[in-house]
Amino acid sequence: MPSRHAKSPQQLHRNLCRQLQQHSIAYYSYARPTISDAEYDALYQELLELEREHPELISALSPSQRVGAEPLEKFTATEHFAPMLSLDNAFSSEQLRDFDRRVHTGAPDSCAYLCELKMDGVAVALTYAHGNLVRGVTRGNGFSGEDVTSNIRTIASVPLQLQYDYPESIEVRAEVYMDTDAFQAFNAQREEDGLAVFANPRNATSGSLRQLDPRETAKRPLNIFCYGAEIIVGEKPATQHELLLKLQHWGLRINHPHLYLETSMEKVLNLCTTLESEREQLNYEIDGVVVKVNSLAAQQSLGATSRAPRWAIAYKFAARQAQTTLEAVAFQVGRTGAITPVASLHPVQVGGVTISRASLHNWDEIARLDIRIGDHVVVERAGDVIPDVVKVLTEQRSGEEKPIPMPESCPVCGAPVVKLPDEVIPRCQGLECPAQLSGRLKYFVSRQAMDIDGIGEKLIAQLVEAGMVANIADIYTLKEAELLTLERMGEKKAHNILSAIEASKKRPLHQLLTGLGIRHVGVHAAKILAREFDSLEALQQIDAQTLETIHEIGPQIAASVVHFFASPANRQVFERLHHLGVHPENQTTLQHQGVLAGMHVVITGTLDTLSRTEAKNIVEAHGGRVSSSVSKNTSFVVVGENPGSKQKKAAELGIPQLSEAELRQRLAK
Ligand code: NAD
Repeated sequence: MPSRHAKSPQQLHRNLCRQLQQHSIAYYSYARPTISDAEYDALYQELLELEREHPELISALSPSQRVGAEPLEKFTATEHFAPMLSLDNAFSSEQLRDFDRRVHTGAPDSCAYLCELKMDGVAVALTYAHGNLVRGVTRGNGFSGEDVTSNIRTIASVPLQLQYDYPESIEVRAEVYMDTDAFQAFNAQREEDGLAVFANPRNATSGSLRQLDPRETAKRPLNIFCYGAEIIVGEKPATQHELLLKLQHWGLRINHPHLYLETSMEKVLNLCTTLESEREQLNYEIDGVVVKVNSLAAQQSLGATSRAPRWAIAYKFAARQAQTTLEAVAFQVGRTGAITPVASLHPVQVGGVTISRASLHNWDEIARLDIRIGDHVVVERAGDVIPDVVKVLTEQRSGEEKPIPMPESCPVCGAPVVKLPDEVIPRCQGLECPAQLSGRLKYFVSRQAMDIDGIGEKLIAQLVEAGMVANIADIYTLKEAELLTLERMGEKKAHNILSAIEASKKRPLHQLLTGLGIRHVGVHAAKILAREFDSLEALQQIDAQTLETIHEIGPQIAASVVHFFASPANRQVFERLHHLGVHPENQTTLQHQGVLAGMHVVITGTLDTLSRTEAKNIVEAHGGRVSSSVSKNTSFVVVGENPGSKQKKAAELGIPQLSEAELRQRLAK
């Protein structure tokens, strides 16, 4: 590399350290990587090579001696029981064989490796004392991380209590991540809401774990796999494999189908090749295979460097990247009119798949990349069906490249396009835009909404084109004879579609509410609304102030709901839906059971043992509803330590106040 000869090793070293540190902060602390992982790894390998040639350059501050990045100040820094290290990487079979030789020299008796998938998420340490989850901390700089306990507690797959013969005290090591399909749905919703989308599930996970409001984290589809533990007080198993099975036994989630016990490095190599080729079939992102010495005694005798254990190595898969050119940009119109720029690329093979399109997400992303039509670009596939442009090769520009224009009118209906100052996405303003209509119909029939099997994107396009459907209610007016006029439609297919439409008439209210596509009301908010209101009619009567008293419904959702139900055009559609026999199942009967049935409960202050979310879940499980503010309709207030103004208000209104213990007594009745 010419630059290496032009500069002194000291200058080069300083330069590399500075770059790597900046990228690490962007990656770990802000979940906004500025370069791709492959580029980071290449820079890091360059640093290692330089330090091998010039060991005198190594200092405690070099990225080769450090793990991760410093914890962010907005969370309390908390020390780990034992350091949470990084992993050394192997990019070739030769590097894996070298690792095997080192292991055999250091621990001659160890013969088996446990191979695990290397999840591409965020590392956390979960501390359980006497079986109770007491702390969840990010890896941070390896010695101390950020205390994100309240956020960790919102992850459904994290047990708050262990079961059976758990050890007295244990620090579990785990990777928090997002499943690919959940990530895609989450991002699609953000895109529709005009919010910045996440580039990949890892960034989304990292951002979600660091929300200051756990209620926000609770809405994010986070999941967890545990891959290790420090047993602080308790009996230790003999191998990594046994340890993981124990964790599972105690109720922790491990990646059980993907644990491979191999007796030689040659077998490990074969496994790595197989797993790399099967990577696409998984519903989560992995970036390699972690090969661990199975015997815990051997692990101990091999020990660790300041950065990584000597008993494990990460075999990194090749990045799924390729270079191509941006030929044009098309604009897609979504159900809320959101216009998304999509890159048309010169077709290129990436990880065995031909790619000719990539998402450019929004104009912030276009500005960040400074991407222009005609540019040479690097595309990467990571989790998404549609790949991303990760880099523009500006040095290859000819000067002929053209900036990407913001469309002034909708490419589908020609209506004006408006970009509000606080949004990153411009929207088509056309009330009758066929693209928006298709998007709304697609969403309405989707599985999370009315779940109408047999109506896919193609059929929707045909129905809209033929003018048979102009709004969601029209779906319920479709007749067999009409359907049969469409291309590629047989009697059997038409019959199945009509039966699916019929079956959807009795879906639960929350699915219908989701399907209406009210802005800011996704699956989660729809469930909350359906729990509080028995019907669409009840929702039409409600004002924003009352809506805001519902736990988890903020001003933005409240305003959007009121606005939606106030629209005469929407009201007309509801009336028609009702008239056409769409009578969502009334689920309120479920709530009318339990000792708190029909009661409105407010929780304030810090409770003795329960977190807010736990207390809320308990109240709801007993048929009650939790509101965020006290009104004359409040049945009672549960008061913990340091209660706020809610207690005062309850006293003024003469509303009963209960301690956590009293609440429990009442529930036990
Ligand atoms: P790492 O990702 O190479 O390996 C350590 C981590 O692996 C652990 O902390 C754990 O979170 C995870 N892991 C997943 N499954 C595991 C399993 N089964 N067993 C054990 N650990 C498992 O190390 P790192 O220090 O977190 O990150 C380094 C990597 O991060 C680099 O190789 C690079 O790809 C990426 N990175 C990228 C940038 C960037 O700017 N793009 C910056 C910094 C780091």
